[in-house]
This record gives sequence, C-alpha cells and structure tokens, in this order.
Amino acid sequence: MTTKGYIISFLIIFFCFQSNIDFAQKFLAITIDDPTIEETPKLNWQMRDSLILRTFDKHKIKVALFVCGMKVDNLSGRSLLANWDSKNHMICNHSYSHLYYNSKSKSTENFINDFKNGDSTIMTYRNYTKLFRFPYLKEGNTVGKRDSMRAALSKLGYRNGHVTIDASDWYIDALITEKLKEDIDADLTPYKEYYLKHILERANYYDSLAHLVFKRKISHTLLIHHSLLNALFLDDLLSLLEAKGWKLIDAKKAYEDKVFLKQPNIEPCGESIIWQCASEIEAISKTLRYPAEDEEYEKQPLEIYIKEYTTRTNKNK
Ligand SMILES: [Zn+2]
Repeated sequence: MTTKGYIISFLIIFFCFQSNIDFAQKFLAITIDDPTIEETPKLNWQMRDSLILRTFDKHKIKVALFVCGMKVDNLSGRSLLANWDSKNHMICNHSYSHLYYNSKSKSTENFINDFKNGDSTIMTYRNYTKLFRFPYLKEGNTVGKRDSMRAALSKLGYRNGHVTIDASDWYIDALITEKLKEDIDADLTPYKEYYLKHILERANYYDSLAHLVFKRKISHTLLIHHSLLNALFLDDLLSLLEAKGWKLIDAKKAYEDKVFLKQPNIEPCGESIIWQCASEIEAISKTLRYPAEDEEYEKQPLEIYIKEYTTRTNKNK
C-alpha cells in the first residue's frame, strides 16, 4: 500500500471509531426536585445542600432545580434558592403545594392557581426558567384537565419540564431516614448499592425505550430529589453513570432536544415523556407498567438485597 493508501485507511478507521463512540455515547442531565430545609436524622439542610452543590461543581454540570414553593417559603428556604441561583443552576417551577392533579377532587382552576403561586416564589431569581414539572408527574386524569393545563402553560410562556428517566430515589431516602432514626450509626452500604443499581437500571431501561420509540438518540433528564440520600451518595451515582458511558451535560442543553416539545394524546396523562410517547404505540404500550415507577416495584427487591448483604457481611466477620 502506498503512503496515501495508508493515510486513507487510517482516516476511515479513525472516523468509524469516532462515529461508534458517538453512537454509544448517552447524554444525561440531572434535575433535582423539591429542595427542602426540613430536618433529617443526619446532616442539617445547609450540609446536605452544600454536599449536593459541591458534587455538581466536581462533575462540572449545571442542573435544573424544580422548586415546590411551600417547602422553601421562608428565610432559610430563600437563602437555599439564592445559593443555587448564585451557582447558575436553573430555577424552575414545581408548583406551590405539590397537588396531585390526577385526583378527581383537584380542579383545573385550583391547579392553575397553585402553579401561578409556585411561579411567584421563584420569579425574582436570575436563573428563573419557565419550565414546569407536574408534581408526581401527573398531568391530568381527563383530556379536558390535561389540555387546559397545556394551554395555561403556553399562555404564560412555560414549557413542560419533562423527565425522561424516572425512578424511586425518594423511596430509598425514606427507608434510610427510618433506619437512621432507629440507629444513627446504621450501615447504609446496602441502601447505597441498591440505589446506584436502581438508577443505572432505570436509565438503561428508559434509554432503550427511547431508541424503540424515537429511533434516535435523545438527551435525557433524570429526576432525583434534594434529599439526605443524595447528599450522601450523589457523587457515587454520578461517577458510576460516567463510568458506564453516560456523558453528563447541562440541563439547559438537554432541554433543547425536540423530544421535550411532544404532547402525547394519552389519558390519564403523565409519567416520563418517553413512557408517554411509548404508550401511544400499541405494540410497545403492552410492555409498559402503570404507574411507571413506584415503591411497590422496589420494596421486595430492596428487602432481599439487604438480607443478602447482611448474610454476606456476617459470614465475613
Ligand atoms: Zn415533587
């Protein structure tokens, strides 16, 4: 082969390799719901908050914070929000009272007022962003309620702050809180291991569902909470995701993906946006569970995981 031939072969291999990397690369932004100053058995809110924020600095990403107004409507709460704002994370609306919109007793009027109250809690911040996340990801139990809220969001210049990857971190957080109340020195290792495994599993599931539905790579948004669990283990989680081929990106960048503009025609409406689009396709919809994520799917596997962990560690003693 001539030198020119070698160079051409090299370039072909190089570009193939590059495009393979690009194909395998998965993009993920982090979104944090329900910032809170409430008491937990370990770490005060300032410590939890600073551990979470430091982790984002370490991984060099800006995230979207979805604020539930009533949880931060006081001096400490406002100082928490100001802190996130000063670090240029997006400050977004997650309603004022965290109402369950799919409940028959929740009217559209009531829900829109609550959404507007949420908006006034955050509108003075520099990084205020008009993205709304429905509490519990429930967007209306009837077509009328769903469409009225879509119209209200659009009228006020808002977009839906969709999640692509939903999970049950809140459930594991509730369990470690319970455990630490019993014993402040309890070994949380099995909870941490289960948490990391759970998020990775849900991320891979929603990514493969996205490939099936959209036949392309999308930018993901993972929903997790401002909790003790994440104050303790967020760094481990983000490091694991990176090691498994997930490229962490800024939330602002992720929300540029057109997938977030979709308005699926489903009733009741809610869950991850990938789940929603999947449920419009008959063949795929049969494989979906409802609710998409919940404690009921994690309870038994987590109990088994803890039991096995205890047997394993007792044997090694
Ligand atoms: Zn919430």
